[in-house]
Amino acid sequence: MPEIKNNLYNAFDNVLSKDLNKTLLVLQNGLKVSRESVIMQSARIANALKSLNAKPGDRISIQTEKITDSIALYLACLRGGFVYHPLNPAYTSSEVSYFFDDADPAIIICDPKNEEIYKTLFGVPKKIPILTLSNQNKGSLISRSKSQSTEYRTHACATDTLAALVYSSGTTGKPKGIMLSHNNLVSNTETLIKTWKLSETDCLIHTLPIFHVHGLFVAINSCLLTGGSMIFLPYFDPKTVIDCIPRATLMMGVPTYYTRLLKTGQLNRSKCKNMRLFISGSAPLSINTFNDFKQATNHEIVERYGMTETLMNTSNPVDGRRKSGSVGLPLEGMSIRISNPINEVGELEIKGPNLCTGYWQKEEDTKRSLTVDGFFKTGDQAREDTDGYITIVGRKTDLVITGGLNVYPVEVEKVINDIKDVLECTIIGVPDDDFGEAVTAIVVRKDGSQLNENKIIELTKKKLASYKVPKAVFFVSQLPRNTMGKIQKNIIKQQFIK
Ligand code: AMP
Repeated sequence: MPEIKNNLYNAFDNVLSKDLNKTLLVLQNGLKVSRESVIMQSARIANALKSLNAKPGDRISIQTEKITDSIALYLACLRGGFVYHPLNPAYTSSEVSYFFDDADPAIIICDPKNEEIYKTLFGVPKKIPILTLSNQNKGSLISRSKSQSTEYRTHACATDTLAALVYSSGTTGKPKGIMLSHNNLVSNTETLIKTWKLSETDCLIHTLPIFHVHGLFVAINSCLLTGGSMIFLPYFDPKTVIDCIPRATLMMGVPTYYTRLLKTGQLNRSKCKNMRLFISGSAPLSINTFNDFKQATNHEIVERYGMTETLMNTSNPVDGRRKSGSVGLPLEGMSIRISNPINEVGELEIKGPNLCTGYWQKEEDTKRSLTVDGFFKTGDQAREDTDGYITIVGRKTDLVITGGLNVYPVEVEKVINDIKDVLECTIIGVPDDDFGEAVTAIVVRKDGSQLNENKIIELTKKKLASYKVPKAVFFVSQLPRNTMGKIQKNIIKQQFIK
């Protein structure tokens, strides 16, 4: 039975409406944004989307910079029962066309610089309204919202009503849309609040991108559901973060952020004395970084582990022992198992209220991702120690995770293979202190070609978001293959990963 109380927005509203004047966001320029102003803006935007015929269940595809109104837009989608579909602003128009085709949105919201091309490519042929939102909180979405009411009746949801569609690169085939329900998001946020003892007095340094579950659901939802505040920064800049640390109590980041903060040489105990927790996830945090950070700040980074399909699954504890190199203990309410006995590596499988409702319009993939008893097969190889702590030892697949973002090798290989003078190539992830893994291309040139590393990087940049572009290119005379003709990445990795 659909009820307003099942809508995640309603859970936020119960907390935020207790004190509407309280600051929710502190911006880079020091400007403070109250809870009330975000809530009113979310109603105006929800009304504007409705006025364009958006109906509950419709996807709203959003590819904009990270700006203040991004939060109001997210809340507007929840309020209206629209499905929030965020996209990395770095995607090129050829990359987004796949997502627009697959998600079939009712409305596209993009940066003004993409308006004309998106109108030509998708808006006109598919009759999809295209609205704009600029990094100065301007654009046609905002002008359309201005005259709208600041009241909006929250859409009543069933517990499994879809709240968001987030695409994650799979290891085979194209990225799949991961369907996250209101209940997935509420239950995971409540668990994280309990685990990390988050409260209204916390102030989070928010510097993560918001097209991925980490910045979006782990960070924003936990702040909205506790009534805390956020120092909301458009992107990660180590110097700015160092300046913000004395005014904050929490930080969430990918391991790269922590290595970069350390590199500034400006972290010290006194600067971090108000901080309660530094949390890391999305990629492995190296033991060196954990130790160096403790040395510099007296803080042990809390490493946690999750994925888009399952939201967060494990975390090192706030009060108990934080083990470096481990992603901690299973979160409350989650069943986690590893296909092999204690201390042996096996595939990690998960069941719980955090598990997504499936892959968008891919029933077969959804079925394949589950065991017969309903556990989700994560594809992550892990081991559990005698204290119940889990260590992720690697991926079953060859996905490269760079700076916390997934790069699907085949996509990059395709672009490089298309370059004139390239015979073939393969992409591997090479461990890197800064990025976790660095996208690395191993290329075979055509006979007599003078093609060099810079040229390949330059040409790849034209086709792909910068985080997918190889950090290094190596040339070899041939790629090793097995008898079935498959490239043996394990052999290549042995050669290039020292
Ligand atoms: P995504 O769906 O983009 O969030 O990527 C999820 C994948 O990131 C997981 O399946 C893991 O392979 C990896 N991952 C996330 N957190 C960690 C972590 N703390 N340590 C190692 N790998 C992680």
